[in-house]
Amino acid sequence: MTDCVFCRIVARTSQAEVEYEDDAVLAFKDIYPKAPIHLLIVPKRHISSIMAMEPQDAEVLGRCLLAARKIGEARGLAERGYRLRVNCGPDGGQVVYHVHVHFLAGGRASGG
Ligand code: AMP
Ligand code: ZN
Repeated sequence: MTDCVFCRIVARTSQAEVEYEDDAVLAFKDIYPKAPIHLLIVPKRHISSIMAMEPQDAEVLGRCLLAARKIGEARGLAERGYRLRVNCGPDGGQVVYHVHVHFLAGGRASGG
């Protein structure tokens, strides 16, 4: 049993509303949405933070961005766009130490 909440969501031992999944990436709804559409895109493999990123993590983090593109297209946002945000470390506002890309949409400059 891991103490990482996003690893538990990946393992399906904690619940989440999953929006997208492939072999490397999972995306699910943020439980405290800060925009009309607020998803979190995570690598299935645990990486604590961009601040701990190693060269071998580059591919899976790129896959998170590809997932964002696919989600944007599936939700009809390919023209209007969306905001992607990665919080890094305490001064960057990171609370959950499993890398995640916030996908925010549904209004101009969604989510501040
Ligand atoms: P950050 O501040 O970048 O670390 O963002 C963490 C985000 O995770 C916040 O927006 C939380 O609302 C969200 N969050 C925390 N726990 C869960 C959970 N169990 N399911 C979905 N979202 C969560
Ligand atoms: Zn984790």
